[in-house]
Amino acid sequence: MAKQPAFKIYGRRMADKIPAEERIKNYKSVYIPQSEEDIKTQASRCMDCGVAFCNHACPLGNVLPELSYLIAKAHWKKALDILLCTNNFPEFTGRLCPALCEAACSLGINQEPVTNRELELSIIEKGFTEGWVKAMPAKMRTGRKAAVVGSGPAGLAAAQQLCRAGHDVTVYERAEDIGGILALGIPDYKLEKWVLKRRLEQLAEEGIVFKPNTNVGADIAVEALKSRFDAVCLTGGSSVPRDLDVEGRTLKGIHFAMEFLTQQNRLNLGKALADEERIDAAGKNVVIIGGGDTGADCLGVAIRQGAKHVYQFEVMPQPPKSRSEKMPWPSWPMILRTNTSHEEGGERRWSVATKYFSGENGHVRKIVCIELAWIEDINGIKRMEEITGSEFELDVDLVIFAMGFLHPEQGTMLTKLGVEFNSRGNVKTDSEYKTCIDGVFAAGDMRTGQSLVCKAIADGRAAAAAIDRFLRNQ
Ligand SMILES: Cc1cc2nc3c(=O)[nH]c(=O)nc-3n(C[C@H](O)[C@H](O)[C@H](O)COP(=O)(O)OP(=O)(O)OC[C@H]3O[C@@H](n4cnc5c(N)ncnc54)[C@H](O)[C@@H]3O)c2cc1C
Repeated sequence: MAKQPAFKIYGRRMADKIPAEERIKNYKSVYIPQSEEDIKTQASRCMDCGVAFCNHACPLGNVLPELSYLIAKAHWKKALDILLCTNNFPEFTGRLCPALCEAACSLGINQEPVTNRELELSIIEKGFTEGWVKAMPAKMRTGRKAAVVGSGPAGLAAAQQLCRAGHDVTVYERAEDIGGILALGIPDYKLEKWVLKRRLEQLAEEGIVFKPNTNVGADIAVEALKSRFDAVCLTGGSSVPRDLDVEGRTLKGIHFAMEFLTQQNRLNLGKALADEERIDAAGKNVVIIGGGDTGADCLGVAIRQGAKHVYQFEVMPQPPKSRSEKMPWPSWPMILRTNTSHEEGGERRWSVATKYFSGENGHVRKIVCIELAWIEDINGIKRMEEITGSEFELDVDLVIFAMGFLHPEQGTMLTKLGVEFNSRGNVKTDSEYKTCIDGVFAAGDMRTGQSLVCKAIADGRAAAAAIDRFLRNQ
């Protein structure tokens, strides 16, 4: 009898996690890496489809069937070389990506998809362990100078591509740590910071100059930047948080997610923080407003800090548990997602709107909410209606707003430069990533709006290719 294809024999198996009650005692990674044999088995499940939807769904264009084949045959070095052709930082995406490729895997039509994200992670970690990931400085320098403003995944990818193309690259970052949201926002249990440090050492060895603690537009004038560099790439992210204009908003104890998350990351690095600045969930009733991934990150951190009770409220209705006919394969399914933080505790509620906050001595003590009904019209457009009599209140000591981000900060740097914005308030570029200012380009969340790490890296790479064309044609 012919040998059965591997996907008929083996099911999908993800890396095990440290039990929730253990992992909440610290900020270390929640996953236990799989053995090499198990990873090879998982890779063998790939069907090597003629039309690889996974490859099309990946913003970076990772060639997942080839990678799976090479892992299954234990050709790790070759897999690494191919992976690094499309992705500068697989150790970030391998830990953080929601894996758009897995949602588009053909196996997902009636089975569980291939574990592409974990396969990617295993390739790059094997590469680092074996010493195969080395600095690749350009053999020839062009003498051209490029500045990158912002050191998130888009800025780092653009910087590495430009530096490897032979240009002299300086990265400006207003924070004291390089890495953008990778450093400041994403909790350590999702991305331990040694992973970032290891990559930054490689970038520095390749010749990239990092200037932390430098706010462009304040510490360095935009005119000086334009005259010192032949090209400038703006990758400052999308950091204006969505706010809630309700009574009691100005009470103490109400904070934006990034204030809360950044503090904990800094504390984990052993940095000092004045007691009066500390946002601490220990022993408190916490309400997180916003049901997305940022909210889930706040939930995980609040639990680790020792919160008494944590609620996560979302204004939208609870999504379905599996694909509906409105989101067929291979589209990205808007289904209910249970993050590792949700396994650790807390209470999630959907279709809940905040009416107001009340407090004592200037500090928030109660939140008053109302339940919503979502009504869909014949065009499929949903409208919300408050359910009469469904108001409820909760005791609360700490409220965290995690309702997403509107657009980049348009104040200092962007206004001084005079760039144009699109209808969503993001920096407007042409198809060559160029803003309306000659020699000034933009990429990542600053250009696209708040997105994903994989998309930011892809955007940074594409912008770098356009800047390289610009510099060579000058
Ligand atoms: C809490 C949180 C968790 C997330 N988790 C995930 C996840 O698990 N998976 C995922 O795929 N995506 C996640 N995302 C989204 C992802 O992090 C972003 O899409 C990505 O970081 C955007 O990259 P970027 O380089 O465009 O900008 P950013 O990472 O935002 O970096 C921009 C940098 O520019 C700096 N900057 C801004 N203005 C200036 C200036 N004038 N001068 C100097 N520096 C400046 C900022 O300080 C910042 O460091 C998360 C986002 C948040 C907020």
